[in-house]
Amino acid sequence: MSLDPDCIFCKIISKKIPAKIVYEDEFAAAFEDLNPQAPVHILVVPKKHIPEVHAMSAEDREIVGHLFLAAKKIADQKGLHVKGYRMVINNGAGAGQSVFHIHLHILSGRRFSWPPG
Ligand code: 5GP
Ligand code: ZN
Repeated sequence: MSLDPDCIFCKIISKKIPAKIVYEDEFAAAFEDLNPQAPVHILVVPKKHIPEVHAMSAEDREIVGHLFLAAKKIADQKGLHVKGYRMVINNGAGAGQSVFHIHLHILSGRRFSWPPG
């Protein structure tokens, strides 16, 4: 998988910097967010460096589909589906994206309001 040596999530994927990894397979990895916004806050990332949803191409469809299945497996393992969980993708700095490597936030363990802040 192609990684970007300057990307913090690529460094986590390649184990160059530590993270609490909760799931890993050939195409995806998941780890606990450093600054959790809920009792459970996990980031699911593709092992390919894709900066944002808006940078995806058609060839990425399996990788991105795989992210959702990985998120479902993690939710299953942690029993998050019983009370529900929120999945968030911020796309672009104006929408709150701060790390430019696609990631799915899984948030659970508290009540969430709508519309989101
Ligand atoms: P974004 O704002 O791009 O949607 O989400 C980026 C997330 O990555 C934030 O929730 C932030 O707390 C988390 N984060 C940033 N740097 C690190 C890091 O080095 N390790 C971990 N585990 N999470 C990080
Ligand atoms: Zn990356």
